[in-house]
Amino acid sequence: MIIDAHVHIGNSLGLVFPPQMVLESMEKYNIDYALISNLDGSEVDFDQNIIPDEFRQKQTDVNKRAIEFAKSNPDKIGTLLWGMPLMESCDDEFERLIADNLDVVHGIKMHPYHNKTRFDSPKVLEYIELARKYDIAVMSHTACDEYSDCRQVYEMAKKYPDVRFVMAHAQLGSPDNQQALDCLKEKLPNLYADLAWVRPENALRIVNECSADCLLFGSDNPIDGLDTYAHPEFYQIYFNEFKNMVTDEDYEKIMYANAIKVYKLKIQ
Ligand SMILES: [Zn+2]
Repeated sequence: MIIDAHVHIGNSLGLVFPPQMVLESMEKYNIDYALISNLDGSEVDFDQNIIPDEFRQKQTDVNKRAIEFAKSNPDKIGTLLWGMPLMESCDDEFERLIADNLDVVHGIKMHPYHNKTRFDSPKVLEYIELARKYDIAVMSHTACDEYSDCRQVYEMAKKYPDVRFVMAHAQLGSPDNQQALDCLKEKLPNLYADLAWVRPENALRIVNECSADCLLFGSDNPIDGLDTYAHPEFYQIYFNEFKNMVTDEDYEKIMYANAIKVYKLKIQ
Protein backbone atom coordinates (compact mmCIF):
# COMPACT_ATOMS: atom_id res chain seq x y z
CA MET A 1 0.00 0.00 0.00
CA ILE A 2 1.12 3.57 -0.66
CA ILE A 3 -0.30 6.65 1.04
CA ASP A 4 0.84 10.03 -0.27
CA ALA A 5 0.65 12.43 2.66
CA HIS A 6 1.38 15.58 0.61
CA VAL A 7 -0.83 16.26 -2.42
CA HIS A 8 -2.56 19.41 -3.67
CA ILE A 9 -5.53 20.63 -5.61
CA GLY A 10 -6.01 24.23 -6.70
CA ASN A 11 -5.30 26.83 -9.33
CA SER A 12 -3.07 29.58 -7.93
CA LEU A 13 0.42 31.05 -8.19
CA GLY A 14 0.54 29.92 -11.81
CA LEU A 15 0.15 26.30 -10.67
CA VAL A 16 -2.78 24.19 -11.81
CA PHE A 17 -3.71 21.07 -9.86
CA PRO A 18 -7.05 19.71 -11.11
CA PRO A 19 -8.66 17.17 -8.75
CA GLN A 20 -9.25 14.84 -11.70
CA MET A 21 -5.50 14.81 -12.39
CA VAL A 22 -4.85 13.78 -8.78
CA LEU A 23 -7.15 10.79 -9.21
CA GLU A 24 -5.72 9.83 -12.60
CA SER A 25 -2.13 9.99 -11.39
CA MET A 26 -2.99 7.91 -8.33
CA GLU A 27 -4.55 5.30 -10.57
CA LYS A 28 -1.59 5.32 -12.95
CA TYR A 29 1.07 5.01 -10.22
CA ASN A 30 -0.82 2.77 -7.79
CA ILE A 31 -1.23 5.27 -4.98
CA ASP A 32 -3.94 3.98 -2.67
CA TYR A 33 -4.77 7.08 -0.72
CA ALA A 34 -3.78 10.76 -0.69
CA LEU A 35 -4.06 13.63 1.76
CA ILE A 36 -4.77 16.78 -0.20
CA SER A 37 -4.76 20.47 0.65
CA ASN A 38 -5.98 23.31 -1.53
CA LEU A 39 -3.18 25.59 -2.70
CA ASP A 40 -5.74 28.34 -3.30
CA GLY A 41 -5.29 29.15 0.40
CA SER A 42 -2.08 31.01 -0.49
CA GLU A 43 -2.27 34.68 0.47
CA VAL A 44 1.02 35.94 -1.01
CA ASP A 45 2.80 35.10 -4.25
CA PHE A 46 6.36 33.84 -4.75
CA ASP A 47 7.66 37.40 -4.24
CA GLN A 48 5.70 37.78 -1.00
CA ASN A 49 3.25 40.26 -2.51
CA ILE A 50 -0.31 39.94 -1.26
CA ILE A 51 -2.47 38.31 -3.91
CA PRO A 52 -4.95 41.01 -5.05
CA ASP A 53 -8.50 40.84 -3.65
CA GLU A 54 -10.01 39.83 -6.97
CA PHE A 55 -7.81 36.70 -7.09
CA ARG A 56 -7.43 35.89 -3.41
CA GLN A 57 -9.98 33.37 -2.22
CA LYS A 58 -11.84 32.99 1.04
CA GLN A 59 -10.56 30.49 3.58
CA THR A 60 -14.00 28.91 3.80
CA ASP A 61 -14.42 28.50 0.03
CA VAL A 62 -10.92 27.10 -0.42
CA ASN A 63 -11.45 24.44 2.21
CA LYS A 64 -15.01 23.61 1.18
CA ARG A 65 -13.64 22.58 -2.23
CA ALA A 66 -11.05 20.33 -0.58
CA ILE A 67 -13.75 18.76 1.61
CA GLU A 68 -16.05 18.21 -1.37
CA PHE A 69 -13.28 16.45 -3.28
CA ALA A 70 -12.59 14.17 -0.31
CA LYS A 71 -16.29 13.47 0.30
CA SER A 72 -16.78 12.40 -3.31
CA ASN A 73 -13.79 10.01 -3.05
CA PRO A 74 -13.80 8.90 0.58
CA ASP A 75 -11.81 5.70 -0.06
CA LYS A 76 -9.00 7.56 -1.80
CA ILE A 77 -8.88 11.13 -0.54
CA GLY A 78 -8.62 12.82 2.83
CA THR A 79 -7.91 16.49 3.44
CA LEU A 80 -5.90 18.94 5.50
CA LEU A 81 -7.63 22.31 5.78
CA TRP A 82 -5.47 25.26 4.73
CA GLY A 83 -5.10 28.00 7.35
CA MET A 84 -4.96 31.60 6.13
CA PRO A 85 -3.56 33.53 9.11
CA LEU A 86 -2.40 36.65 7.23
CA MET A 87 -5.65 38.20 5.96
CA GLU A 88 -8.06 35.89 7.80
CA SER A 89 -7.91 33.91 11.03
CA CYS A 90 -8.82 30.69 12.79
CA ASP A 91 -12.46 31.77 13.05
CA ASP A 92 -15.71 29.99 13.93
CA GLU A 93 -16.33 29.11 10.30
CA PHE A 94 -12.98 27.34 10.09
CA GLU A 95 -13.78 25.42 13.25
CA ARG A 96 -17.18 24.44 11.88
CA LEU A 97 -15.57 23.06 8.72
CA ILE A 98 -13.49 20.76 10.91
CA ALA A 99 -16.20 19.81 13.38
CA ASP A 100 -18.74 18.99 10.65
CA ASN A 101 -16.36 17.00 8.47
CA LEU A 102 -14.16 14.93 10.74
CA ASP A 103 -14.78 11.92 8.49
CA VAL A 104 -12.51 13.49 5.84
CA VAL A 105 -10.55 16.23 7.66
CA HIS A 106 -7.36 14.80 9.16
CA GLY A 107 -5.29 17.88 9.79
CA ILE A 108 -4.54 21.55 9.28
CA LYS A 109 -2.01 22.72 6.72
CA MET A 110 -0.01 25.87 7.41
CA HIS A 111 2.21 27.46 4.77
CA PRO A 112 4.41 30.04 6.55
CA TYR A 113 5.83 31.32 3.24
CA HIS A 114 2.69 31.64 1.11
CA ASN A 115 0.73 32.94 4.08
CA LYS A 116 3.63 35.15 5.22
CA THR A 117 3.25 34.21 8.87
CA ARG A 118 5.83 32.48 11.02
CA PHE A 119 4.76 29.16 12.47
CA ASP A 120 5.29 30.39 16.03
CA SER A 121 3.17 33.54 15.63
CA PRO A 122 0.08 34.04 17.85
CA LYS A 123 -2.34 33.65 14.94
CA VAL A 124 -0.90 30.25 14.08
CA LEU A 125 -1.18 29.16 17.71
CA GLU A 126 -4.95 29.46 17.38
CA TYR A 127 -4.91 26.90 14.57
CA ILE A 128 -2.70 24.61 16.66
CA GLU A 129 -5.11 24.89 19.60
CA LEU A 130 -7.93 23.90 17.28
CA ALA A 131 -5.99 20.88 16.06
CA ARG A 132 -5.56 19.87 19.66
CA LYS A 133 -9.27 20.29 20.36
CA TYR A 134 -10.25 17.96 17.49
CA ASP A 135 -7.24 15.64 17.76
CA ILE A 136 -6.08 16.25 14.19
CA ALA A 137 -2.51 16.81 13.01
CA VAL A 138 -0.78 20.03 11.92
CA MET A 139 1.39 19.99 8.81
CA SER A 140 3.62 22.96 8.07
CA HIS A 141 5.57 23.72 4.94
CA THR A 142 9.24 23.98 5.94
CA ALA A 143 11.99 25.53 3.84
CA CYS A 144 15.11 27.71 3.93
CA ASP A 145 13.37 31.07 4.33
CA GLU A 146 12.76 33.24 7.37
CA TYR A 147 9.15 32.09 7.77
CA SER A 148 9.46 28.36 7.22
CA ASP A 149 12.25 27.22 9.51
CA CYS A 150 12.01 23.64 10.84
CA ARG A 151 13.09 24.85 14.24
CA GLN A 152 9.80 26.73 14.69
CA VAL A 153 7.81 23.56 14.12
CA TYR A 154 10.10 21.71 16.51
CA GLU A 155 9.53 24.37 19.20
CA MET A 156 5.75 24.10 18.79
CA ALA A 157 5.96 20.32 18.98
CA LYS A 158 7.77 20.71 22.30
CA LYS A 159 5.22 23.21 23.54
CA TYR A 160 2.21 21.12 22.43
CA PRO A 161 3.15 17.50 23.19
CA ASP A 162 -0.41 16.30 22.54
CA VAL A 163 -0.53 17.65 18.96
CA ARG A 164 1.10 15.76 16.07
CA PHE A 165 3.25 17.97 13.81
CA VAL A 166 4.62 17.25 10.34
CA MET A 167 7.51 19.24 8.83
CA ALA A 168 6.60 19.11 5.15
CA HIS A 169 9.63 18.67 2.85
CA ALA A 170 11.98 18.29 5.84
CA GLN A 171 13.12 21.80 4.89
CA LEU A 172 12.73 22.38 1.18
CA GLY A 173 15.84 23.62 -0.60
CA SER A 174 18.29 22.18 1.91
CA PRO A 175 20.69 19.88 0.03
CA ASP A 176 21.21 17.62 3.06
CA ASN A 177 18.04 18.24 5.13
CA GLN A 178 20.40 18.65 8.07
CA GLN A 179 18.26 20.98 10.13
CA ALA A 180 15.24 18.70 9.85
CA LEU A 181 17.43 15.76 10.83
CA ASP A 182 18.71 17.67 13.86
CA CYS A 183 15.13 18.38 14.97
CA LEU A 184 14.06 14.76 14.41
CA LYS A 185 17.08 13.50 16.34
CA GLU A 186 15.57 15.07 19.45
CA LYS A 187 13.04 12.22 19.14
CA LEU A 188 9.95 14.15 20.12
CA PRO A 189 7.20 11.51 19.81
CA ASN A 190 4.88 14.02 18.09
CA LEU A 191 7.26 15.41 15.44
CA TYR A 192 7.39 13.99 11.90
CA ALA A 193 8.57 14.98 8.42
CA ASP A 194 7.22 14.22 4.98
CA LEU A 195 9.39 13.35 1.99
CA ALA A 196 8.05 15.66 -0.72
CA TRP A 197 11.19 16.62 -2.66
CA VAL A 198 13.50 14.99 -0.11
CA ARG A 199 16.30 13.08 -1.84
CA PRO A 200 16.06 9.36 -1.08
CA GLU A 201 19.66 9.30 0.17
CA ASN A 202 18.73 11.96 2.74
CA ALA A 203 15.67 9.98 3.81
CA LEU A 204 17.95 6.99 4.26
CA ARG A 205 20.25 9.06 6.45
CA ILE A 206 17.29 10.07 8.63
CA VAL A 207 16.30 6.40 8.95
CA ASN A 208 19.85 5.40 9.88
CA GLU A 209 20.72 8.27 12.19
CA CYS A 210 17.27 8.72 13.70
CA SER A 211 14.40 6.37 12.87
CA ALA A 212 11.87 5.41 10.22
CA ASP A 213 9.11 6.18 12.70
CA CYS A 214 9.14 9.90 11.90
CA LEU A 215 8.94 9.83 8.07
CA LEU A 216 5.89 9.95 5.80
CA PHE A 217 5.97 9.50 2.05
CA GLY A 218 4.80 12.66 0.24
CA SER A 219 5.25 14.17 -3.21
CA ASP A 220 3.53 17.52 -3.94
CA ASN A 221 1.66 15.65 -6.71
CA PRO A 222 0.50 16.82 -9.24
CA ILE A 223 2.93 19.76 -9.26
CA ASP A 224 4.66 18.43 -12.39
CA GLY A 225 1.45 17.18 -13.98
CA LEU A 226 0.03 13.70 -14.40
CA ASP A 227 3.48 12.13 -14.24
CA THR A 228 4.86 13.83 -11.15
CA TYR A 229 5.47 10.34 -9.72
CA ALA A 230 7.67 9.44 -12.71
CA HIS A 231 10.50 11.64 -11.38
CA PRO A 232 13.60 9.44 -11.72
CA GLU A 233 15.56 10.98 -8.83
CA PHE A 234 12.76 11.12 -6.31
CA TYR A 235 9.52 9.17 -6.51
CA GLN A 236 10.63 6.36 -8.81
CA ILE A 237 13.47 5.64 -6.37
CA TYR A 238 11.01 5.57 -3.45
CA PHE A 239 8.75 3.15 -5.34
CA ASN A 240 11.61 0.86 -6.40
CA GLU A 241 15.22 0.93 -5.15
CA PHE A 242 14.32 2.41 -1.77
CA LYS A 243 12.52 -0.85 -0.92
CA ASN A 244 15.89 -2.55 -0.80
CA MET A 245 17.63 0.23 1.07
CA VAL A 246 15.60 -0.13 4.29
CA THR A 247 14.00 -3.06 6.12
CA ASP A 248 10.54 -4.22 5.04
CA GLU A 249 9.13 -2.96 8.30
CA ASP A 250 10.67 0.50 7.86
CA TYR A 251 9.51 0.66 4.24
CA GLU A 252 5.93 -0.01 5.28
CA LYS A 253 6.12 2.60 8.02
CA ILE A 254 7.37 5.26 5.62
CA MET A 255 5.10 4.45 2.68
CA TYR A 256 1.82 4.22 4.64
CA ALA A 257 1.81 3.06 8.28
CA ASN A 258 3.14 6.30 9.79
CA ALA A 259 0.59 8.33 7.81
CA ILE A 260 -2.24 6.18 9.18
CA LYS A 261 -0.95 6.83 12.69
CA VAL A 262 -0.24 10.56 12.39
CA TYR A 263 -3.44 11.46 10.53
CA LYS A 264 -5.60 8.81 12.26
CA LEU A 265 -6.80 7.40 8.95
CA LYS A 266 -9.44 4.72 9.04
CA ILE A 267 -8.22 2.68 6.11
CA GLN A 268 -7.16 -0.96 6.08
ZN1 LIG B 1 3.14 21.24 -1.06
